[in-house]
Amino acid sequence: MAPVRVRFAPSPTGMLHVGNARTALFNWLFARGQEPGSVFVLRVEDTDVERSEEKHELQLMEDLLWLGLRWDEGPVTGGPYAPYRQSERLAVYARHTEQLLTERKAYRCFCTVEELEADRELALATHQPQNYVGRCRAIPLEESTARAAAGESFAVRLRIPEHPLRFHDLVRGPVEFPHETISDPVLVRSGNLKEPGTPVYNYVVTVDDALMGITHVIRGDDHISNTPRQVAIYEAFDWQVPEFAHLSTILGADRERLSKRHGATSVASFRDMGILPEALVNYLALLGWGPAGGDREIFSAEELVQAFQLERVTASPAVFDWDKLHYLNRHYLKTGDPARMLELAWPFFTGAGLLPPRGATPPEIRGWAASLLALFLHSVNQLDELPARAGFLFAFDPASIQADPENAAILASEGAQRVLAAFESRLAAYTGPVTAEIFKQWMNEIKVETGIKGKDLFHPVRIALTGAHSGPEFDKLLPVIEHGAEVPLPTPVLSVRERIRAFAGPGSQQA
Ligand code: GLU
Repeated sequence: MAPVRVRFAPSPTGMLHVGNARTALFNWLFARGQEPGSVFVLRVEDTDVERSEEKHELQLMEDLLWLGLRWDEGPVTGGPYAPYRQSERLAVYARHTEQLLTERKAYRCFCTVEELEADRELALATHQPQNYVGRCRAIPLEESTARAAAGESFAVRLRIPEHPLRFHDLVRGPVEFPHETISDPVLVRSGNLKEPGTPVYNYVVTVDDALMGITHVIRGDDHISNTPRQVAIYEAFDWQVPEFAHLSTILGADRERLSKRHGATSVASFRDMGILPEALVNYLALLGWGPAGGDREIFSAEELVQAFQLERVTASPAVFDWDKLHYLNRHYLKTGDPARMLELAWPFFTGAGLLPPRGATPPEIRGWAASLLALFLHSVNQLDELPARAGFLFAFDPASIQADPENAAILASEGAQRVLAAFESRLAAYTGPVTAEIFKQWMNEIKVETGIKGKDLFHPVRIALTGAHSGPEFDKLLPVIEHGAEVPLPTPVLSVRERIRAFAGPGSQQA
């Protein structure tokens, strides 16, 4: 196949939604997997001046770059078909409107809002389709030009041809719309020669796709019903109709269209909760696409490029599955470069007041933070869970540990008291940090001395140290506690000695 040209054409009216991110990804994967010379275009569809904002444009570019989806042509980047912002292409559209009017493929519609409203009501009352009645379709061009020159307001409508409108969809196969169902669409909204009306989405998207040489239009299936109108515009200009691929809607678990109601939906919100970009890319790729011959789920971006085929995209809606996203995120958290993971995790600890800002941190804290992260990284679905997971190290509060009835019952048992007292007596005769080796040795001694073993032996110690019934293994946990107690942290970490003493020492909660 010859090189392809595809585009992602977001409107900068809000945050980049995951559905749109998936559209961008499928475009990117398709382009990168085709012949060298294939191009991924970013085009900003900002003709809705009321709702488009520069900050949204910047954010969406940032989100695309975060996901690793670099475009070859686009705003800022430039390219042979610049400008790539629709608000900067109004003269191009105006020129093409003139062409359509002169060739009588389009006509000026002078109908007033009241007339159109009356038509609509009549159609409703007589159960007729709400197509434009065609009042202005036959106005001769000379008359129409004269009325426009005299200052009359008009919209520009396309003459829908009298044959079915057809296109090929790589996901859905051949699609055909009977022309009778399609009203002559407005291409340019009402305006006059002094204050021209604004061109509509269906029109500008088609002009741009054609002029920019787009070979495959890959986008959400909410645009299927727009496509016949776009096909009619291609035909009016004698342009070749591209291939289409309409991607299925993404649904929430309740099978309703994925929306804010379902929680996070913007790319930025996934980033803010500590989902890694490689996990989101891997996840979004599997949303409506699957590799040939197998149920493999882990794919790097490069592997996706190799495996991706537009033909394998399913037409049925894809259901957003948090468990799968978390599964993939855990995979990438575990296998990622530890230094990068630390860099990404750091702001979450800083945000919770547990670590100073990374830039201002002395090396000894950095070293300790790396061991802190190693202790908990494997147990979280997303990075924002880390502060809560690690919280017990910082916020050691014997009273609240005791306040849990289950903890209180265990700590008050006779066996637990004996274990903790034996631990405390060893601490009293020892000054250094409690290493994993010493801990092991002491617990063996205490086992022999008290005759208490297994869960009854270890459980009270874990509760005294962490306030929880489960958590990291002792030999990994103890060094982090002991080392943490030595580094100057915004929220200090108490040592093993201080923790045990709170429950077993003189003046402890037990007394
Ligand atoms: N600006 C349109 C959107 O964001 C683009 C649709 C298309 O790709 O044609 O939905």
